[in-house]
Amino acid sequence: MALFDPKAKVISSYQRAIDDRTASVRKYYDEIGKLYYDQYKDMNVDNTKDINTRCEAITRLGNEIEDYKLKILFEKGLKKCPNCGTENSLEYGFCFKCGTKFDEDSSKEPKTDFEEAEAKLDEAKAEEPAEEAPAAEEKAEEAASEETEEKAEE
Ligand SMILES: [Zn+2]
Repeated sequence: MALFDPKAKVISSYQRAIDDRTASVRKYYDEIGKLYYDQYKDMNVDNTKDINTRCEAITRLGNEIEDYKLKILFEKGLKKCPNCGTENSLEYGFCFKCGTKFDEDSSKEPKTDFEEAEAKLDEAKAEEPAEEAPAAEEKAEEAASEETEEKAEE
């Protein structure tokens, strides 16, 4: 069973983190729609701040999703060409499709700023009403802390 393969386990934890973030993004889109509508319906309502908070969260989650996708690729021994997006073997110096030169760090594990992002996420959560704290993000935090533990083992 794939679960006993440590690499598959890491990849599935990244995939879970992506799924959780994707769910949060959808939820924020829904909330933005409702906030905007409430504002449209009642001229006295100004939801700009709440809408902007969610827009920023969507951008941040989108960046994190991209980071996780790169980390999954890395686990599979692949990296993405920054020019054409083609997946290349980690050890390639040039993209086999378009010939773009990879920089020296391209074969190393992709660096992410999850902890920083996580801290910002907490700030954003603090601004929101408590009942709206998305459960999906808590799961994502678990995945991120799993990753920190793995780094410590290296
Ligand atoms: Zn390329």
